[in-house]
Amino acid sequence: MKNRLDRLFIDPNREDILYFLETDDVGELEMLYAFADEVRKQFVGDAVHLRAIIEFSNYCRRGCRYCGLSKDNLQVTRYRMKPEEIVATARGIYQKGYRTIVLQSGEDSSYTLDDYLYITREIKKIGDLALTLAWGEKTEEEYRAYYEAGADRFLLKHETSNPELYRRLNPGMELAERIECLRALKRIGFQVGSGIMVGLPGQTNGSIADDILLFRELGVDMVGCGPFVSHPQTPLGEADNGGVDLSFRVLALNRIALRHVHLPATTALSTLGGGEMRRLALERGANVVMPNLTPENYRRLYDIYPNKKRTEVGSTDFREELETLVTSLNRFIPDTPY
Ligand code: SAH
Repeated sequence: MKNRLDRLFIDPNREDILYFLETDDVGELEMLYAFADEVRKQFVGDAVHLRAIIEFSNYCRRGCRYCGLSKDNLQVTRYRMKPEEIVATARGIYQKGYRTIVLQSGEDSSYTLDDYLYITREIKKIGDLALTLAWGEKTEEEYRAYYEAGADRFLLKHETSNPELYRRLNPGMELAERIECLRALKRIGFQVGSGIMVGLPGQTNGSIADDILLFRELGVDMVGCGPFVSHPQTPLGEADNGGVDLSFRVLALNRIALRHVHLPATTALSTLGGGEMRRLALERGANVVMPNLTPENYRRLYDIYPNKKRTEVGSTDFREELETLVTSLNRFIPDTPY
């Protein structure tokens, strides 16, 4: 067992990862979590980074079968923020003290390259902040243009490393293309984030082990893994939700196998498990929290999965709540963009 933990850290292999995804020995799990916390402390320290998210459009050209924003969901009221409105929102967020802003949306083809460059440049002019983009698959030339305009990071989860499952869940899309996007983003110089959904219908533990090894191979800088949450307005509406317990194992394994990466305590975890999940995640490898600062009037419309709104976290109160939580863990929230 100790050997397995050491091996995970030094040279992780599929069998050892799988072992910890499946063991039902409570003592072993406790050791896994304690070790993840140690590795977290040693490699990324006690800082808990806040990344403020603006969900700026819920239009999407894709038909992902798990996602409430799929183009096939005709019950969604769609919204799209104007470039100036996105920049103004970012300015307000900066004034609240956040130093990383994440722009996320569906794959909305109506923004032009010039719109994206304008948004990127204007937000970077606001102050000393890091800008993360998460607006889907684009060409390498486009990614390069965003980078040259000042964007620092890009998030694009590979969702699952099983090509057949990927194809089934994302009609018309190919895993290889997604991975090529991630490689292009790395080549360009972005800090790159990937991730998966844990407990997707049809996903095996072996495939989750492959996901963790793929994060390593890609050399990603951030990994967001939360449980799949079934959405009634999608073809997977009847499927079971992903496991909270399994998601924690994935988090801890990511920390041990990937060491330096940024790992968020995901919103999906809190959606299924309640508020206490955030603390547990921070104690089991996580070092990032991503508060949602989408303007109030749009927030409920960015309905990727149900009850996401219940964990809405953009208020000043939430910021204070987080400060209290982080302090109680003997950790701190830095005021730099890193
Ligand atoms: N269009 C952008 C942003 C997608 S939404 C992109 O492709 O990157 C952000 C993430 O939400 C997705 O990457 C996916 O991992 C997650 N997500 C989507 N539907 C979900 C669901 N039903 N349960 C849990 N997570 C989900």
